Amino acid sequence: MQWLLLGCHGCLTLVVVVSFLCGQWPIFQGTFIQRIHYFITIGAYDYFLRFVMLIFGTKGQNAILSVEHYCCDRPNPILQILYLAIIGGMYFIIIKSSFRYIPGYYLSEVHRYTAFIAVIVGVGLFVLTSFSDPGTVKADNVSAYLSAYPYDNIIFMEKQCSTCKITRPARSKHCSICDRCVARFDHHCGWMNNCIGEKNTRYFMAFLLWHFVLCLYGTVVLALILCGQLKDHKVIYILTAYYGVEDSLYSLFPHVVQWLLISYNTQILVMVFLAVVSLLLAGFFGYHACLCLTNTTTNETFKWKDYISWKKRLNEAKASSAALKGDTFADENVSGREKPPQKRHALFCCTRQKVGEKVGEVIAKKNMYDRGVLRNVFEIIIPFSARRSFLFRKSD
Ligand SMILES: [Zn+2]
Ligand SMILES: [Zn+2]
Repeated sequence: MQWLLLGCHGCLTLVVVVSFLCGQWPIFQGTFIQRIHYFITIGAYDYFLRFVMLIFGTKGQNAILSVEHYCCDRPNPILQILYLAIIGGMYFIIIKSSFRYIPGYYLSEVHRYTAFIAVIVGVGLFVLTSFSDPGTVKADNVSAYLSAYPYDNIIFMEKQCSTCKITRPARSKHCSICDRCVARFDHHCGWMNNCIGEKNTRYFMAFLLWHFVLCLYGTVVLALILCGQLKDHKVIYILTAYYGVEDSLYSLFPHVVQWLLISYNTQILVMVFLAVVSLLLAGFFGYHACLCLTNTTTNETFKWKDYISWKKRLNEAKASSAALKGDTFADENVSGREKPPQKRHALFCCTRQKVGEKVGEVIAKKNMYDRGVLRNVFEIIIPFSARRSFLFRKSD
């Protein structure tokens, strides 16, 4: 019964954590994970707002909305402080609870120092990503950026930034939180309180990879400490010789876990936490590594998604129009509307579901910035603006 409760608790925690952090990922689309994510991120907050409105009226609701505005729409260090609290707290708990077992049966003393260095490097990468320039586009470098990133005229067209009053180069975006245009804009990272762009994607990737390795390292070290304790206390021997437990993994496993949970519950909790976080980081790093290898940004994945769905609707409109009015007339009718997907989707929302020949057409994503794996990776490691040639582009 005790085991059943423990198992249920573990599964429930895992589902909630995964739903909260990864619920919006495409693989969870339409699943209960996505629904839980929606409830945790939007639904529950909506109910809370209604509840505040009911009890405290409009004033209370406005106070909550201004807190929300500060937390979500303005630069703020809340998540940065939370990150430092988590990494500092974890390191402190591990020092207090586990450093006395180092050196141990499986671990040499060197891990006391490597753990410290690993944490310091992690915090260093965090500081570097948080406080480095993501590639702000200004009047003095806009011409160099314009020449480094030509327009593809599919998802990026020549456009003026109404706030910065400069021509916005292809692949850049105006971040409403930081209030600046950022070159090769990926996303605004709340944890870093900074945009991830042309200049600091390399630090961001190093941060993700390092923290994945750090969490994995912590998990393995704690597991080796526990294995060492089992050896030192001769637990297996005592269980088999004195308690008559059969000498097989299947019979010993529950007894060993029970002994560990009673004597080393802190280490087990920290180990599970680090293992879950390392899995999430591996997924996040993998996703961003795929983007880097194909020279796409998170911002561009949304733009491509929009473009492809617009193109599909356009084809559907063409097909149904052709079916109704005849091919020649339909082509004339639609060609006039063939403009990029800038809030024109609504035009095609109500078109018939009748699928014509063109609907079946595969809409290809022609990413002109993808220049092969090696050059794409090189562009991340040494961004255009860090190259000497970038300075001379200004004259273009
Ligand atoms: Zn701007
Ligand atoms: Zn930003």
